[in-house]
Amino acid sequence: MSAWTGEVAMEQSDRAEPSGVVFEIQRWSGNDGPGIRTVVFIKGCPLRCAWCCNPESWSPAPQVAFFQERCQDCGQCRDACPQQVAGPGRDGGRGDAPGCTACGRCVEACPSGARVLMGRRMPAGEVLAAVERDRVFYRQSGGGVTFSGGEALAQPRFLEALVKGCQARGLSMALETCGHFSWDRCKEILAAMDVVFVDLKHLDPAVHRRVTGVDNRLILQNAVRVARAGLPLVIRVPLIPGINDDDASVEAIAAFVSRELGGALGVEVLPYHTLGKGKYAALGLDYRLADLLPPEPESVVRARRIFQDLGVTNLYYGSAPVPTAMAGEEEKDERGAL
Ligand code: SF4
Ligand code: SF4
Repeated sequence: MSAWTGEVAMEQSDRAEPSGVVFEIQRWSGNDGPGIRTVVFIKGCPLRCAWCCNPESWSPAPQVAFFQERCQDCGQCRDACPQQVAGPGRDGGRGDAPGCTACGRCVEACPSGARVLMGRRMPAGEVLAAVERDRVFYRQSGGGVTFSGGEALAQPRFLEALVKGCQARGLSMALETCGHFSWDRCKEILAAMDVVFVDLKHLDPAVHRRVTGVDNRLILQNAVRVARAGLPLVIRVPLIPGINDDDASVEAIAAFVSRELGGALGVEVLPYHTLGKGKYAALGLDYRLADLLPPEPESVVRARRIFQDLGVTNLYYGSAPVPTAMAGEEEKDERGAL
């Protein structure tokens, strides 16, 4: 069983076909690994980062978001809801409303787009058919499929089926993880990846727990395991003003990368942004960083200098330029076949 037991409830793996809950399949991504990519966003995450731009990824279950500012008070959702929980108003049947089964009928009935279903259970075959559409572009660009989240490893049985399917189709794969997973449960999945992105947010366990909800020790351990296993590792550091953009915090992360993760392909420094803010209220969640602004450019430059001073020179603001030799289908070997 994984370190995060939420996986048990949300996966279904009958003999015919495994399925899992996905909240988006995004085509044409240029930021989640080399080349042109399709990103599969898997629902469920063991962390609750205060700055998260995808709070709809937290719960492993499908849920309804309610954007009150779009609501016209027509009441059609109320008429459509078999559970009698949907309706106009602030608490009009969001996914956290007791009794909501996320059937989606209110979403279909709503004429103004005020109700949005976040996540859907999908058979692995349906996901594979979706990612296969752009295989010609993957081949031309050295791209492929990226598994993300939420936490991409939150539904490992489902992910195993997707990995096997991609292997059978000769598709290159990358994985984005918060690092909070069971190594024993997930190491074979990781070994099948052409790139593994691991987030590092703070080196102090107490601060990490305060801003993400979990201790960082398992995450640091897993980052080291990925590096020592010789897997192609890219570290991502979200730069959050007032949380980890001070010199001491950046130095601690840079020193860890330099000392423990010497083989990492690169480090991506990702400045905080507020793009996901509007989704919090729609999901009935508080946004803890309501007054926080993105970091000043000088702060990002200073962080970069700290990494460089500690010997980490393969730094990027966007995607790390992973060598295409690691991603092209022609170069793909049998490493990590499940
Ligand atoms: S998703 Fe279904 S159960 Fe939930 S509020 Fe909408 S109609 Fe009602
Ligand atoms: S159907 Fe949509 S617009 Fe009408 S009351 Fe419900 S949420 Fe508001």
